[in-house]
Amino acid sequence: MLGLMQSQPLLISSLIEFAERHHGDGEIVSRRVEGDIHRYTYRDLAARSRQLANALDEAGLAFGDRVATLAWNGYRHMEMYFGVSGSGRVVHTVNPRLHPEQIAWIMNHAEDQILCFDLTFLPLVQAVHAKCAGVKKWVALCDPDRLPADSGVPGLVSYETWIGAKSSDYAWPQFDENTASSMCYTSGTTGNPKAALYSHRSTVLHAYAAALPDVMCLSARDAVLPVVPMFHVNAWGIPYSAALTGCKLVFPGPALDGKSIYELIEAEKVTYAAGVPTVWQMLLGHLRPAGLKFSTLKRTVIGGSACPPAMITAFQDEFGVEVLHAWGMTEMSPLGTLCTLKNKQLELPKDEQMKILQKQGRAIYGVDMKIVDGDGKELPWDGKTYGDLLVRGPWIIESYYKGENPLIQDAQGRGWFPTGDVATIDADGFMQITDRSKDVIKSGGEWISSIDIENIAMAHPAVAMAACIGMPHPKWDERPIVAITLKPGAELTREELLAFYEGKTAKWQIPDDVVFVDAIPLGATGKMLKTRLREQLKDYRLPGI
Ligand code: ADP
Repeated sequence: MLGLMQSQPLLISSLIEFAERHHGDGEIVSRRVEGDIHRYTYRDLAARSRQLANALDEAGLAFGDRVATLAWNGYRHMEMYFGVSGSGRVVHTVNPRLHPEQIAWIMNHAEDQILCFDLTFLPLVQAVHAKCAGVKKWVALCDPDRLPADSGVPGLVSYETWIGAKSSDYAWPQFDENTASSMCYTSGTTGNPKAALYSHRSTVLHAYAAALPDVMCLSARDAVLPVVPMFHVNAWGIPYSAALTGCKLVFPGPALDGKSIYELIEAEKVTYAAGVPTVWQMLLGHLRPAGLKFSTLKRTVIGGSACPPAMITAFQDEFGVEVLHAWGMTEMSPLGTLCTLKNKQLELPKDEQMKILQKQGRAIYGVDMKIVDGDGKELPWDGKTYGDLLVRGPWIIESYYKGENPLIQDAQGRGWFPTGDVATIDADGFMQITDRSKDVIKSGGEWISSIDIENIAMAHPAVAMAACIGMPHPKWDERPIVAITLKPGAELTREELLAFYEGKTAKWQIPDDVVFVDAIPLGATGKMLKTRLREQLKDYRLPGI
């Protein structure tokens, strides 16, 4: 017997319709590439998304066709999220930090028909446009008077000219909720880029889940600043959850330095911010020397790579901002776990709570996870045993776009996605990433977590950033070394840092050496690029080897 409830497909257009009707005057503030601050409302967003949908119809785009973006976080990018997907096309957010060759490859692989880009990226577009013969329309996300006369991109139009004259009357089409809505290529820290192809259903379910109190806890009371880019995994789904909750949205545009972010937080009374640790490192670097404090910021979600415990303490103790440590992947839309305490843990001493809060957290309903050994046998949730982390759920990929199905089948025939991470899970369900499987250091048959080694170095007051990698060793296979950058003006010797490790980890896990570098290479999403660091240190030899 079937239930007798209304059957409505979960479509992205329903989010924007809801936003317009129930919190139409909610504010969306954007720092523009032009440098000024732009303000409008969810009602404006909805109307302009419909204008864009009409423009796509007139351009002859078919259902399912891909429309690419090369853009910062801002209101026009948000219109693309709703106008493109809502009308049944697929928005393909391209990461502008990738190499032009890779961008051209990705755009051809996705078969993009239109590219909309912020003018910051004109040089990139000039480099790729001759290589992307399939793109039939190039659109600059700017006012008409900003369109460069000699752009070098034939037929370039301004977005405002393109959609400005279109009607804002448009009936969002209804279709199967499993229809593709957006796509994102992995940033390629591991091999060739591969695309996750999200659906309306997966996006809406993820938006619901992300807003839950033990997840990102978004509400109409918040003013939210997503520093995490809209060009990578849909800014962790915040644009969709924002439309669902009606929070005020504050977009940072291209200005991601500590000073600009701080000023925006203060000016727009931001209560909530989200980003990767490297961005928050810059923010703290701006606040501390100037003795600045936040007047409204209450919470920040930090994820994308391990959040050093020293950063959690800094936010909480120095600035009164709660840190929510999050873990996820492009292939998971991206949220998998978030770290919030359970009721029974609220009375624990602060240092014990801190130990829990450093973990990547508990699975969100909708995500099932387990750890397995090399034979695929499930391992215990004791907080000590580590194994390969597998996940399953309705916002986790089944296969890559035009690519392989990576799932591992269990005895019940259910498919699990192998995350490539090594983790422990404790009896309360808190997962902790030990490492990415390819970054784990294998020393004398034992594993050393590069994240643990980095976290200790990051707790030293002189250290700005730390990256731990394994170096070949004739006896132990591999031994860890730690590459570090120092804070401006700080001094530290190799011996002082190695002494700092004493008593903080087992003796055999202490790195064999410290390498001082000017910069740690970062990838396209602000994560440390250890492959590049290994290349840079290819002639390095461990002391005495
Ligand atoms: P890529 O870096 O290949 O683009 P993603 O951006 O999807 O991939 O990143 C996913 C990976 O980032 C995870 O598998 C994990 O290794 C790492 N990661 C994400 N969040 C965290 C976290 N909070 N702690 C540790 N590692 C994390």
